[in-house]
Amino acid sequence: MSKKILLKNVHNQGQATFDGYVNSGGLLGLKKALKKDPKEVIEEVKNSGLRGRGGAGFPTGVKWGFVPRDTGKPVYLICNADESEPGTFKDRVIMERDPFLMIEGMIIAAYALGSSLSFIYVRGEYSYPYIKTLEAIKEAYSKGMLGKNILGSNFSHEMVLHRGAGAYICGEETGLINSLEGKKGQPRIKPPFPAVKGLYGCPTCVNNVETLAVLPFIFSEGWEAYAALGTEKSKGTKLISASGHINKPGVYEIELGYPLKEFLEVECGGVWKGRKLKAVIPGGSSVPVLRADEIEKVNLDYESLRDAGTMLGSGGFIVLDETADMVEVARNLAHFYAHESCGQCTPCREGGHWVEKVFTRISKGRGVPGDMELVDSMCSQIAGHTICPFGDALVTPAQSLMKKFPEEFKDRILNGSKSTNPLNYELGH
Ligand code: SF4
Repeated sequence: MSKKILLKNVHNQGQATFDGYVNSGGLLGLKKALKKDPKEVIEEVKNSGLRGRGGAGFPTGVKWGFVPRDTGKPVYLICNADESEPGTFKDRVIMERDPFLMIEGMIIAAYALGSSLSFIYVRGEYSYPYIKTLEAIKEAYSKGMLGKNILGSNFSHEMVLHRGAGAYICGEETGLINSLEGKKGQPRIKPPFPAVKGLYGCPTCVNNVETLAVLPFIFSEGWEAYAALGTEKSKGTKLISASGHINKPGVYEIELGYPLKEFLEVECGGVWKGRKLKAVIPGGSSVPVLRADEIEKVNLDYESLRDAGTMLGSGGFIVLDETADMVEVARNLAHFYAHESCGQCTPCREGGHWVEKVFTRISKGRGVPGDMELVDSMCSQIAGHTICPFGDALVTPAQSLMKKFPEEFKDRILNGSKSTNPLNYELGH
């Protein structure tokens, strides 16, 4: 199925300790990178084809190239470990079981960017990942992996671990930066982009945990080895967190381009309880849903999923079986987004609650004709009219669920509790 890069050592005893990490081949990539010119490091990351794994899929080396090094201000690196997208729980595996992989990747990135101070912003609810990462950072300092003259080189680097307070929106990079500065975790208007004016007004690069954790492989094995994996445009491997109505939920590493159906049937063990597949949300709750009949020729990579009308996103793979109540799914997700809005933009702050209210009344059998059109019209007033992409994230599941399963919504509106679908009110399992 795939070559293991990120999950290769996660089951090793002692992998989360410095000695365990070094014994499994750790630090080789960093040692090689520190012997290169920083510009060369950036070029090799560009050549590898690595794209950001937080959701946007932007080329990592190109993003690094946007960070100016000659402003006279410090350059900051931030590792975005605020993993909060519903259905996404892949970064926590690295933080809990192989945290030195992330730390080594961060030092390589910091070296390339000319940064002497970096931050890890970890999701507030992630207690155990926070503890394991904190232990690893302390040990890294004591072993000369962090601090002055790292591994005997001329490069020095400090690292700070910061725990968030539990807000989804702090996963958006400028909301995260505001939060790190001690302000409300509310996104900023862009431009200026963080690359130019980020943390404390200085050039800042924000990368996801998984993105950074791949760097040791790219430098220990060579960018060519990484670029040889995956498809022409989607290089390397991707962590997929699989959940929902499947036999084997968990975190898997696949080579990009792997057939979605095979992933569902082989890695996930198929749909549970002998039921039929109804739908898949392939990249976390804010990407469009795919019906069972749409997954046949789809592969898990950026281009194939885009062509199918959805996205790879953060790799949060949510499976829904034939009993899933799609009106309730829409209501549930609308509730999440309404609750997590930071409140700065009226369309998002007010619209999110309106969408939730309408889905709630439909779900409870009190919907009225025109409700679907009403939600659609509200969504069109939200998308593209907000400071950050949260507005788009809010409307995507709402609109795609109504578009892909219109009969289910119409049936509930017309027939209410006398719905013709006997499974409509089977919410639990
Ligand atoms: Fe806040 Fe929503 Fe506006 Fe984003 S879109 S800044 S979350 S109110």
